[in-house]
Amino acid sequence: MPVTQTVPAAARMFLSGNDAVARAVWEAGTRVAAAYPGTPSTEILEILSRHSGLHTEWSVNEKVSMEVALGASMVGARAFCAMKHVGLNVASDALMTMTVTGTEGGLVIAVADDVGMSSSQNEQDSRYWGRFAHVPVLEPADSQEAYAMTLAAFELSERLKSPVILRLTTRICHVKGVVHTGERIEIEPKGFVKDPRHWVMVPGNAKPRLPSMFEREAAARAEAEVTPLNFQVERSDRRIGFVTSGPTFMHVREAFPDAPVFKLGLSCPPPLESLRRFAATVDTVLVVEETEPLLETEMKAAGIACHGKDVLPRIGELAPDVLEPAVRRLRGEVVPEPEHVPAQQVFPRPPTMCVACPHLGVYYTLSQMRNVIISGDIGCYTLGAGHPWNALDTCISMGASMGTALGMDKGRGKVDENKKVVAVIGDSTFMHMGMQGLLDITWNRGNVTVLLLDNRAVGMTGGQDNPGTGRDIHGAETTRVDFAKLCEALGVKKERIHVLDPYELPVLFKALREETKIEEPSVIITNRPCVLIDHYQPAKSYTVEEDRCTGCGNCVEVGCPAIHVTRRDKVIKASGKEVDLSFVRIETSACTGCGLCVQPCAPAAIVHADPVQNVQSVQFVRK
Ligand code: SF4
Ligand code: SF4
Repeated sequence: MPVTQTVPAAARMFLSGNDAVARAVWEAGTRVAAAYPGTPSTEILEILSRHSGLHTEWSVNEKVSMEVALGASMVGARAFCAMKHVGLNVASDALMTMTVTGTEGGLVIAVADDVGMSSSQNEQDSRYWGRFAHVPVLEPADSQEAYAMTLAAFELSERLKSPVILRLTTRICHVKGVVHTGERIEIEPKGFVKDPRHWVMVPGNAKPRLPSMFEREAAARAEAEVTPLNFQVERSDRRIGFVTSGPTFMHVREAFPDAPVFKLGLSCPPPLESLRRFAATVDTVLVVEETEPLLETEMKAAGIACHGKDVLPRIGELAPDVLEPAVRRLRGEVVPEPEHVPAQQVFPRPPTMCVACPHLGVYYTLSQMRNVIISGDIGCYTLGAGHPWNALDTCISMGASMGTALGMDKGRGKVDENKKVVAVIGDSTFMHMGMQGLLDITWNRGNVTVLLLDNRAVGMTGGQDNPGTGRDIHGAETTRVDFAKLCEALGVKKERIHVLDPYELPVLFKALREETKIEEPSVIITNRPCVLIDHYQPAKSYTVEEDRCTGCGNCVEVGCPAIHVTRRDKVIKASGKEVDLSFVRIETSACTGCGLCVQPCAPAAIVHADPVQNVQSVQFVRK
């Protein structure tokens, strides 16, 4: 059953930017909202799904979410989709034609850039899409603005008949502030109007629509000159006047409270005439924007002299500690080099997988294999690239493990001809953009072994449901993808598809060894759930019998964070070889009894903490 919550009427609330956007989407009378989870925007749809009065969904990828929103707009409903910055790359095919058709019901696209790269593979600046697609871009600076600009974006979208991009950053998405909210309005959709010249984008229909795209852009530019979303903060220190967009407004106000600031809320198209007038009132203009020099370039092209990325970094957040020395240098002041403070000696704590994560078994097994190239993908399993497994060789984009594996297979020369090519992909990533790659592998007779890690969750973003879980965004039962059948339908022979328990190391190792020997596509599907989802059932925990532990360190290679090295030593073998020893203990309160570390422990030193439950250890033979 859908879970809904009672939403307070107009109120003063303490909300993150994501909360505030969700609240405004709901208040705007939106009927359809869709997204694919991605940090930092995930929470928007999670929060919206608890509201009543609208359809919310996790879509299989961002392109589908945008198309769902467009379909709702076509019938006259207000619609919304949300994604992280790289998601808009996936959705851009829809965006670049949606800008030609225009929209009917208000359509807002929230895109969250990960400035500072806390959880992403790149730091691209989504404001480019506004320029590329000729659609307006709104940039809030805090939660209150995230709320207000979401509402304004729907109105702007309906005035201009255009999708509107709401550009967020990690700081806006996650920082909380006071927001004055309102109440939901209900809007009855006008209904779909059949009009092939509007909606059927064949060349003969699309070409006549192109001028309307530029007329709309001109209207947005005129609006940018007068909208209250763009305003000037008057201050007395006119040596430098700042032009800001998005969260940089807050940073500049904090660092230079006496300086005049031109704040852009509707930043694309930029109000160049207003900016020209502002520039005439100050000695020097400094454009502070994250991350690319877009406004700076546009202002310079319009003949407005300004500084920007010549004095400010082009990567990362432009926080006060970054701005202050840069601005002092621009003013001609001598800025002493910061005093060198030696780094504190702290114990290294690299990112790792969870205790008993089913991926541990997969990466332990892969780490024992020789002569293998492992093409990876996006998800928590990307951590397989790290210590102690070092069992992932590439990670590019959603679903890329398939195509890159096929390319390696087809492109390899003599030096790689005896290597096995393995692709590793998670369940949600597979459905997002990976299954097309598997089809390409089978269709083009690739020699790739695919490890499909079905942990029944979008693990990295918090365990959201996907078509493989059989539940929708509300947790209600729905159709469930059968991965084995899906892979067979995509052309993998039935006998080359194995569904295995990743906690059974010998079985997994045997299957991998056999399938990588066979020169045709094969798929090994692991079937244990993410330990953080509510269906996971922990078992009896384990402990280490100290007097039996030989310090071989095999269990440490599993990579479970519940295993701690308590003592290190060295011994000289009879052969004269020096060997490192690692003696361990298991944090029993953290251990969930998955049994993974038991299997490579030859002296059977790992036993159930409750002796009655002792089991024979399963020997795992290294190859
Ligand atoms: S049995 Fe071993 S691998 Fe599994 S959770 Fe416990 S310590 Fe970790
Ligand atoms: S695998 Fe067994 S013997 Fe080796 S370090 Fe771990 S507990 Fe000790």
